[in-house]
Amino acid sequence: MAIRRVLTLWDNVRLVEEDAVILRKVSDDVFIPSDHVGKGQIDDLVQTFLDRNDALGLAAPQIGINKRIVIFRNKNFDDSHWTKNEKDYEVLVNPRISSARGEMAAASEGCLSCPDIRVEILRPSEIKVRAYDLKGNKISKRYTNFLARIVQHEIDHLEGKLIVDYEGTYYIPRERQDFFAKIMKG
Ligand SMILES: [Zn+2]
Repeated sequence: MAIRRVLTLWDNVRLVEEDAVILRKVSDDVFIPSDHVGKGQIDDLVQTFLDRNDALGLAAPQIGINKRIVIFRNKNFDDSHWTKNEKDYEVLVNPRISSARGEMAAASEGCLSCPDIRVEILRPSEIKVRAYDLKGNKISKRYTNFLARIVQHEIDHLEGKLIVDYEGTYYIPRERQDFFAKIMKG
Protein backbone atom coordinates (compact mmCIF):
# COMPACT_ATOMS: atom_id res chain seq x y z
CA MET A 1 0.00 0.00 0.00
CA ALA A 2 1.10 3.50 -0.72
CA ILE A 3 0.23 7.11 -0.17
CA ARG A 4 -0.08 8.68 -3.58
CA ARG A 5 0.20 12.17 -4.99
CA VAL A 6 -3.12 13.95 -5.62
CA LEU A 7 -3.45 15.00 -9.25
CA THR A 8 -4.47 18.58 -10.08
CA LEU A 9 -5.76 20.37 -13.18
CA TRP A 10 -3.22 23.16 -12.55
CA ASP A 11 -0.35 23.90 -10.22
CA ASN A 12 1.07 27.29 -9.25
CA VAL A 13 2.31 28.13 -12.71
CA ARG A 14 0.57 26.09 -15.41
CA LEU A 15 -2.14 23.70 -16.45
CA VAL A 16 -1.01 20.13 -15.72
CA GLU A 17 -1.99 18.37 -18.95
CA GLU A 18 -0.78 14.93 -17.87
CA ASP A 19 -2.93 15.00 -14.72
CA ALA A 20 -5.92 16.42 -16.60
CA VAL A 21 -5.96 13.43 -18.95
CA ILE A 22 -6.51 11.07 -16.02
CA LEU A 23 -8.90 13.37 -14.12
CA ARG A 24 -11.00 13.77 -17.29
CA LYS A 25 -11.35 10.07 -18.08
CA VAL A 26 -14.51 8.07 -17.30
CA SER A 27 -13.43 5.43 -14.78
CA ASP A 28 -14.02 1.69 -15.08
CA ASP A 29 -15.79 -0.57 -12.61
CA VAL A 30 -13.69 -2.50 -10.11
CA PHE A 31 -13.92 -6.23 -10.68
CA ILE A 32 -16.05 -7.83 -7.90
CA PRO A 33 -14.99 -9.76 -5.87
CA SER A 34 -11.91 -7.58 -5.98
CA ASP A 35 -8.65 -9.31 -6.76
CA HIS A 36 -5.18 -8.45 -5.47
CA VAL A 37 -4.87 -5.43 -7.78
CA GLY A 38 -8.32 -4.08 -6.91
CA LYS A 39 -7.68 -4.47 -3.18
CA GLY A 40 -4.36 -2.64 -3.54
CA GLN A 41 -6.02 0.23 -5.39
CA ILE A 42 -8.74 0.56 -2.75
CA ASP A 43 -6.08 0.47 -0.06
CA ASP A 44 -4.03 3.22 -1.72
CA LEU A 45 -7.11 5.44 -1.86
CA VAL A 46 -7.88 4.83 1.82
CA GLN A 47 -4.27 5.47 2.90
CA THR A 48 -3.95 8.63 0.81
CA PHE A 49 -7.25 9.96 2.15
CA LEU A 50 -6.36 9.21 5.76
CA ASP A 51 -2.96 10.82 5.35
CA ARG A 52 -4.60 14.19 4.66
CA ASN A 53 -6.40 16.54 6.98
CA ASP A 54 -7.88 18.72 4.28
CA ALA A 55 -10.05 16.26 2.34
CA LEU A 56 -13.76 15.65 2.87
CA GLY A 57 -13.61 13.05 0.17
CA LEU A 58 -11.35 11.58 -2.47
CA ALA A 59 -11.98 9.59 -5.65
CA ALA A 60 -9.57 7.08 -7.19
CA PRO A 61 -8.90 9.09 -10.39
CA GLN A 62 -7.54 11.87 -8.15
CA ILE A 63 -4.66 9.57 -7.21
CA GLY A 64 -4.12 8.36 -10.76
CA ILE A 65 -6.37 5.29 -10.70
CA ASN A 66 -9.24 5.31 -13.21
CA LYS A 67 -11.43 2.96 -11.18
CA ARG A 68 -14.82 3.55 -9.59
CA ILE A 69 -13.84 3.91 -5.93
CA VAL A 70 -14.65 6.82 -3.63
CA ILE A 71 -14.01 7.58 0.03
CA PHE A 72 -15.50 10.38 2.11
CA ARG A 73 -16.15 11.55 5.65
CA ASN A 74 -19.67 10.84 6.86
CA LYS A 75 -19.43 13.01 9.96
CA ASN A 76 -17.06 15.43 11.72
CA PHE A 77 -16.72 17.57 8.60
CA ASP A 78 -14.92 20.27 10.54
CA ASP A 79 -11.20 19.52 10.14
CA SER A 80 -10.50 20.07 13.84
CA HIS A 81 -12.92 17.25 14.72
CA TRP A 82 -11.70 14.82 12.10
CA THR A 83 -10.69 11.67 13.96
CA LYS A 84 -9.97 9.30 11.03
CA ASN A 85 -11.94 6.72 12.98
CA GLU A 86 -13.29 3.86 10.82
CA LYS A 87 -16.86 4.90 11.63
CA ASP A 88 -16.22 8.44 10.47
CA TYR A 89 -15.71 7.63 6.80
CA GLU A 90 -17.17 5.39 4.10
CA VAL A 91 -15.79 3.69 1.02
CA LEU A 92 -18.05 2.97 -1.96
CA VAL A 93 -16.97 0.67 -4.77
CA ASN A 94 -18.69 0.99 -8.17
CA PRO A 95 -21.21 3.54 -6.85
CA ARG A 96 -24.15 4.58 -9.02
CA ILE A 97 -26.74 7.20 -8.11
CA SER A 98 -30.06 5.38 -8.51
CA SER A 99 -32.28 8.34 -7.69
CA ALA A 100 -31.98 12.00 -6.86
CA ARG A 101 -34.72 14.06 -5.29
CA GLY A 102 -35.38 16.83 -2.81
CA GLU A 103 -34.85 20.53 -3.20
CA MET A 104 -32.01 21.80 -5.34
CA ALA A 105 -29.55 23.54 -3.04
CA ALA A 106 -26.59 25.77 -3.89
CA ALA A 107 -23.31 25.79 -1.98
CA SER A 108 -19.70 26.52 -2.81
CA GLU A 109 -17.41 23.52 -3.24
CA GLY A 110 -13.67 23.15 -3.33
CA CYS A 111 -11.64 20.25 -4.70
CA LEU A 112 -8.08 19.09 -4.07
CA SER A 113 -7.73 18.63 -7.83
CA CYS A 114 -8.78 22.24 -8.54
CA PRO A 115 -6.60 24.09 -6.02
CA ASP A 116 -7.32 27.64 -4.80
CA ILE A 117 -10.81 28.04 -6.20
CA ARG A 118 -14.36 27.39 -5.09
CA VAL A 119 -17.41 27.10 -7.31
CA GLU A 120 -21.03 27.50 -6.31
CA ILE A 121 -22.89 24.36 -7.41
CA LEU A 122 -26.57 23.49 -7.45
CA ARG A 123 -27.30 19.87 -6.44
CA PRO A 124 -30.32 17.83 -5.33
CA SER A 125 -30.41 17.48 -1.54
CA GLU A 126 -31.21 13.76 -1.42
CA ILE A 127 -29.75 10.82 -3.35
CA LYS A 128 -29.90 7.06 -3.28
CA VAL A 129 -26.77 5.17 -4.23
CA ARG A 130 -26.13 1.55 -5.15
CA ALA A 131 -22.60 0.31 -4.61
CA TYR A 132 -20.43 -2.41 -3.12
CA ASP A 133 -18.78 -2.14 0.27
CA LEU A 134 -15.20 -3.11 1.13
CA LYS A 135 -16.19 -6.75 1.59
CA GLY A 136 -17.81 -6.93 -1.84
CA ASN A 137 -21.38 -6.86 -0.50
CA LYS A 138 -24.05 -5.05 -2.49
CA ILE A 139 -25.28 -2.04 -0.56
CA SER A 140 -27.91 0.61 -1.05
CA LYS A 141 -27.55 3.94 0.76
CA ARG A 142 -29.44 7.18 1.13
CA TYR A 143 -27.64 10.48 1.69
CA THR A 144 -29.10 13.90 2.43
CA ASN A 145 -27.99 17.52 2.58
CA PHE A 146 -24.24 18.13 2.98
CA LEU A 147 -23.34 14.45 2.81
CA ALA A 148 -25.40 14.06 -0.38
CA ARG A 149 -23.35 16.93 -1.83
CA ILE A 150 -20.03 15.29 -0.93
CA VAL A 151 -21.06 11.93 -2.41
CA GLN A 152 -22.26 13.56 -5.66
CA HIS A 153 -19.00 15.51 -5.91
CA GLU A 154 -16.97 12.30 -5.53
CA ILE A 155 -19.09 10.32 -7.99
CA ASP A 156 -18.68 13.19 -10.51
CA HIS A 157 -14.93 12.44 -10.43
CA LEU A 158 -15.66 8.92 -11.70
CA GLU A 159 -17.31 10.48 -14.76
CA GLY A 160 -14.34 12.79 -15.30
CA LYS A 161 -16.42 15.74 -14.15
CA LEU A 162 -14.97 18.50 -11.94
CA ILE A 163 -16.29 21.60 -10.18
CA VAL A 164 -15.03 23.81 -13.02
CA ASP A 165 -17.52 22.06 -15.34
CA TYR A 166 -20.45 23.63 -13.52
CA GLU A 167 -21.97 26.98 -14.45
CA GLY A 168 -21.96 28.53 -10.95
CA THR A 169 -20.10 31.52 -9.59
CA TYR A 170 -16.34 31.13 -9.11
CA TYR A 171 -14.50 32.27 -6.02
CA ILE A 172 -10.86 32.96 -6.82
CA PRO A 173 -8.48 34.55 -4.32
CA ARG A 174 -7.30 38.00 -5.43
CA GLU A 175 -3.65 36.97 -5.77
CA ARG A 176 -4.61 34.14 -8.15
CA GLN A 177 -6.99 36.07 -10.38
CA ASP A 178 -4.44 36.95 -13.09
CA PHE A 179 -3.30 33.33 -13.28
CA PHE A 180 -6.86 32.06 -13.72
CA ALA A 181 -7.75 34.74 -16.24
CA LYS A 182 -4.77 33.49 -18.26
CA ILE A 183 -5.44 29.73 -18.06
CA MET A 184 -9.21 30.01 -18.53
CA LYS A 185 -8.67 31.85 -21.79
CA GLY A 186 -6.55 29.02 -23.22
ZN1 LIG B 1 -12.99 16.80 -5.93
